[in-house]
Amino acid sequence: MKNPHSADTTNPFDFVLFGGTGDLSLRKLLPALYFRHCENQLADDGRIICVARKDLDTDAFRSLISSEVKQHIPEEQFMQNVWDEFVQRVFYLQIDLTTIEGYSDLGNMLAGREDHARVFYLSVAPSLFATICNKVKEAGLISAKSRVALEKPLGRDQETANEINDQLAEAFEESQIFRIDHYLGKETVQNLMALRFGNSLFEPLWRRERISDVQITIAESLGVGTRGGFYDQTGALRDMVQNHLLQLLVIIAMEPPVSVDSDAVRDEKIKVLRALKPLVGQHAVESTVRGQYKAGAYADGAVPGYLDNETVSDDSTTETFVAIRAEIQSWRWAGVPFYLRTGKHMESKLTEIIINFRKVPHSIYETADGFTAPNQLIIRLQPEESIRMRIYVKAWGDDMELQPVHLNLDFNDIFKKRQMIAYERLCIDIINGNQTLFMRRDEVDAAWAWIDPIREAWEKHKVVPKSYTAGTMGPAASNALISKEGLKWYED
Ligand code: NAP
Repeated sequence: MKNPHSADTTNPFDFVLFGGTGDLSLRKLLPALYFRHCENQLADDGRIICVARKDLDTDAFRSLISSEVKQHIPEEQFMQNVWDEFVQRVFYLQIDLTTIEGYSDLGNMLAGREDHARVFYLSVAPSLFATICNKVKEAGLISAKSRVALEKPLGRDQETANEINDQLAEAFEESQIFRIDHYLGKETVQNLMALRFGNSLFEPLWRRERISDVQITIAESLGVGTRGGFYDQTGALRDMVQNHLLQLLVIIAMEPPVSVDSDAVRDEKIKVLRALKPLVGQHAVESTVRGQYKAGAYADGAVPGYLDNETVSDDSTTETFVAIRAEIQSWRWAGVPFYLRTGKHMESKLTEIIINFRKVPHSIYETADGFTAPNQLIIRLQPEESIRMRIYVKAWGDDMELQPVHLNLDFNDIFKKRQMIAYERLCIDIINGNQTLFMRRDEVDAAWAWIDPIREAWEKHKVVPKSYTAGTMGPAASNALISKEGLKWYED
């Protein structure tokens, strides 16, 4: 069966990249499109039209990206002759997107190509989302084959997300809106679904009778850096939990969809979000930990604390770390704790999902570790993408003592080819109109509906973040949270 997320060649397209000179465009989107061009996946006359205010013309923009984008493509994957071909697809328009005048230039460029997929990719600040949608509509640029793609953050809470979604809906149909959570474009996240729904082995085990707890960690080794102004108004709960962490949880917990059709998958995902046990009031306080990093050190040197950052307010109580004990109220998952944690300036950059299976009911063997850790499925998304299964075997020799070993699925070893970056798949899906890996409006809404009461409880009960030293795995309270029920965070 053909992979529904890939097509040999895309539909003919115009990919309008609003914010073409910005960080996301230069670091991720243009490299992603270059890689797809290398694979001959972009339709021959597909164009990438970059838009920003910077005073450049197409030639100057092409030379700018030829030096800037190259830095974000590994040397061994950069082919000058292919790049030279690729840049011929790229055009630049200098437009101030807040005024209607510039949109006529864009209109002239798009005219006569209404039969092409027309992507409006909003790689700009969220404050511009509504303005741009209004103006492309006012300028008559939305064709039947148009789509709009936008990045998180989608609002600050349920109310503001709804406002943005209402504004989007004034210009675009839901079937034209692609809300990106780039985690969903990662190979391992899709492999997680393949593992669950492409093998009969796991399904009987994937339930409360067999699984004791699930742990999901997204640890960043960097601090807030120059994003302090934005981050101080946001915090880890909004920045990471509402989107990436909840999306991973949902993919672990969802019921098998009837097909890979986008609505079939998203219908199952939303049921999980709606089944999350609400964390409200004192219960929210007891089920969560807020943290904020203080100065610390890594092997390559010292790093300042969050409050030392000049772009952050001196007395900020914004959390840079969150740990949460979540529960899903369903027959499959009732009583199984899902522990989520994320933070900045943690020990290392790591994204990992641990499925802890229950211990054997009665052990007839001795083990080197006393069966302290049960069978585990360890799914790693970063730094490398791998899936490992921890099982017990008898070590060679006289003893009948068991020891744990790992069945190891290292995708680099198996496939021996360059792994697609998440944005490659997402850009192709947007061009081809496949919404499976994008968040539907009701998903975003349900995620905020679960997040908002946690923040309200923190405010009401004046929960200030506990400090943790940069370079560690978060405050001690995070260990205390999980050890309340005799568990501990997985450590490799
Ligand atoms: P950025 O570096 O600040 O880039 C913003 C872009 O918007 C620039 O090209 C800027 O160019 C353009 N722009 C701003 N005002 C404009 C106007 N009035 N008219 C036309 N162009 C205008 O931002 P970014 O980091 O790339 O982020 C883009 C979006 O992606 C944001 O929504 C962000 O939250 C989201 N995001 C980014 C990342 C990331 O890794 N960077 C990750 C996740 C999500 P000029 O100044 O030349 O006009």
